[in-house]
Amino acid sequence: MNRRLIRAIADEGLLPGLFPRRAGGSRDGEVSAVDLCVVRQALARESTLAENAVAIQTLGAYPIVLAGSDEMAARYAGPVARGEAVAAFALTEPDAGTDAGALALRAEPDGKGYRLSGTKVFISNAPDADTYTLFARATQGVGTKGITGFIVSGDAVGLSGEPLQLLSAHPIGRLELDGVFVSEKQVLGDVDGGFRLAMRTLDLFRPSVGASVIGMAQSALEAAISHASSRQAFGRPIREFQAVSHQLAEMATRLEAARALVYSAAEAYDRSDQGIARRSAMAKLFATETAQQVIDAAIQVHGAVALARGHLLEHLYREVRAPRIYEGTSEIQREIIARDLFRRPSEG
Ligand SMILES: Cc1cc2nc3c(=O)[nH]c(=O)nc-3n(C[C@H](O)[C@H](O)[C@H](O)COP(=O)(O)OP(=O)(O)OC[C@H]3O[C@@H](n4cnc5c(N)ncnc54)[C@H](O)[C@@H]3O)c2cc1C
Repeated sequence: MNRRLIRAIADEGLLPGLFPRRAGGSRDGEVSAVDLCVVRQALARESTLAENAVAIQTLGAYPIVLAGSDEMAARYAGPVARGEAVAAFALTEPDAGTDAGALALRAEPDGKGYRLSGTKVFISNAPDADTYTLFARATQGVGTKGITGFIVSGDAVGLSGEPLQLLSAHPIGRLELDGVFVSEKQVLGDVDGGFRLAMRTLDLFRPSVGASVIGMAQSALEAAISHASSRQAFGRPIREFQAVSHQLAEMATRLEAARALVYSAAEAYDRSDQGIARRSAMAKLFATETAQQVIDAAIQVHGAVALARGHLLEHLYREVRAPRIYEGTSEIQREIIARDLFRRPSEG
């Protein structure tokens, strides 16, 4: 956990700029999907570490901004916006990944609050985060309609966890909750309304996952253009072989298409357009698949040198993989799109 980095990003104004004033930030308005995309894309082009830090701070705290009272926003999201506290978003469980609605972590009423018991896994910034937005089951037998969002403090009695070793640019871990008490004031939004809140948060974030991988792929493309100009083979720069230059043209074209899709989905979210789930899923699906192809092609243009440990492309090749899985796999994005196509076939 790089707390110094998070603090520095906040001190630069980047994190507060993504939070409204009532949630400790510097924005006059509410959160914006477009602004989140701009910041994530720009950071990812330079440093996936810095980009991931912003992504998880916002993912962990935005449900509080979206559904919490002004008091909750100031108290819990404020320190996250200022880089004083580290946030996390805890939805996934060992038996509920893609099928998040099957989550089983129990929330049992206890006096003026609830006791939380169960396991969360693959939680970015766990187990050392200070503030968790955590989803638990308060009502049994009603599927997605029985899930509630809670704010859980990282130092709560009964909360423990362990780090996991995963191909990822940020810390990630597992959480165990053994009767963790949360008061009624830590309930996020409506009781049993947590699944909708989680999905609303993901609709907001999916275009920005796309923006972050576009930033990574853009730096891969630039590296490939530069290498194609300087590397000589058969007495000429390799850019003079059409097999190489046309690969660069293909990469740039696909990236441009991904960028257009991402920003059009983010603008649609900011305008509160209909059909945002479909557009958000399309943006994440297309951008993450495209970025993987672009970074792979950039390696091909470089040859063996790109696979050397510590090379920019070796690094990006590892980093670009997880976004096709987190915040919904590519397969489930296609499922979201397909379901919406059948529901609203004539919507463009
Ligand atoms: C780096 C990283 C960071 C993460 N951070 C977080 C976090 O901060 N918070 C959090 O809550 N979670 C986080 N996750 C977890 C992530 O959201 C899940 O891994 C993801 O939702 C997929 O779940 P799963 O891994 O259990 O795969 P599974 O659900 O087991 O899926 C396995 C395969 O089956 C396919 N599949 C399943 N159902 C369907 C279906 N209906 N149609 C078609 N295909 C299907 C999937 O697409 C996949 O290919 C993170 C994961 C990673 C890798």
